[in-house]
Amino acid sequence: MAKLLIFNWKMNPGTFKEAEKILGESIILEESSDKYEIAVCPPSLWLFDLSQKYAGKITFGSQDVFGGDPLSGKGASTGEISAEMLKNSKVEYIIVGHSERRRYENETDEMISKKTEVGLKAGFKVILCVGEDLNTHSQGPEAVKSFIKDQLEKDLENIHNSKFIIHNSLIVAYEPIWAIGTGIPENPESAALMAKYIKEAVGAQVLYGGSVDGKNIGNFIKYEEIDGFLIGGASLSPAQFGGQLN
Ligand code: PEP
Repeated sequence: MAKLLIFNWKMNPGTFKEAEKILGESIILEESSDKYEIAVCPPSLWLFDLSQKYAGKITFGSQDVFGGDPLSGKGASTGEISAEMLKNSKVEYIIVGHSERRRYENETDEMISKKTEVGLKAGFKVILCVGEDLNTHSQGPEAVKSFIKDQLEKDLENIHNSKFIIHNSLIVAYEPIWAIGTGIPENPESAALMAKYIKEAVGAQVLYGGSVDGKNIGNFIKYEEIDGFLIGGASLSPAQFGGQLN
C-alpha cells in the first residue's frame, strides 16, 4: 500500500503566489513516485482556491473543522469552517487534535472527540493527532503507551461504537510533542513500536509526525507499521524529498 504523506503547512505561506509555488513542487513530488500519496493541508484562506484550481492533480486536506453547535453547517460561529463547507470544496482529509491547537487554542479532548465525530460522519478521512510531552516521554515507553491509550479513549469517545467508521476512515498521527518543530525526531524504532501499539488498540492506519525531513525520512520508511508521515516545516520545501521517496 502507498505510504501517505500529509503536508501540514500550518500558518504558511504569507501569499497565494508562494502557496501556488509550494503546491507546484508538491505536485511534481507526487507525480515522481507511485509509492506515496501526498495530501496538502494549506491554511483555509488558500485551501478553497487551490483545491478548485488544482483538483485532480493532488489531494487536499483541512487543518481543522468546526465541532461545536450548531452542526448544521452554517451559523453564528465567527471564524469557523464547517464540515459542510469543506464538503463543497475538494477536500478529502481533516486534521484534528494537533498539539498546537490543543496548546494554543485550548482545545480539549471533548472538543476533539466532537470534531472527530463530525469529520467522520461527514465522510472525510480524519487524521487524529495524539502524542506525549517530554515529561511523559522521560518516564519511558510504558508511561507513553498509557498516556496515548487515555488520549485515544477520550478523543474517540463519541465514535466508540462505530467500528466500521474507524476502520475505514480514521487515521491516527502519532506526534510526540517534544519532536514537533524541534529538529529532533523520535528514533524510528520507537516510533514504529508506538505505531504498532496504536494500530492494535484502534484498528486504524498510523502516521508518524515530528521533525521528519528529506534527510531522515529514509530511516522511517522501512518500518511497515508506519503507514505514512505528517510533515510540518519540511512540507514547505517539498523538493527536498525528491529522490528520498523512491
Ligand atoms: C506537525 O506540525 O504536525 C509536525 C510534525 O511538524 P514538524 O514536521 O515541523 O515537526
